[in-house]
Amino acid sequence: MINKYAGRCGSCLNIVEAGEGIYEYGNVYCQELTEREGLTDRNWPMCDAAYALELKGEPARAAVKQDWLNRNRMQHDKMQEIKLNLKAQGLCVRCGGAGRSDMWKDTGYVCYQCEGTGKAKAGA
Ligand SMILES: [Zn+2]
Ligand SMILES: [Zn+2]
Repeated sequence: MINKYAGRCGSCLNIVEAGEGIYEYGNVYCQELTEREGLTDRNWPMCDAAYALELKGEPARAAVKQDWLNRNRMQHDKMQEIKLNLKAQGLCVRCGGAGRSDMWKDTGYVCYQCEGTGKAKAGA
């Protein structure tokens, strides 16, 4: 996706102007990320600039990467926890039991997962 926002590349941290680079995974990047091998225990998607820094062993970028990993993991765990909680209460995991919200006016106000009941669907 073409990037519409000015910001820092989520990979190399260089400034990216609006209209340059790409926008993906909720982040701005200076270019399409490609997976690079061999530097860590797993392949890691990076832009060219970040890969060049990685090869030099730039510690700041490693810290950023670790931070990103941790944040992702935390968010994931948090979401799982919230979902499990809602499920245990028999509530719809999408809307949390609200059924509808004014925030969804573009899609007709009603939660598409529970169809407005706010209850978890059997087997969902
Ligand atoms: Zn970059
Ligand atoms: Zn719902």
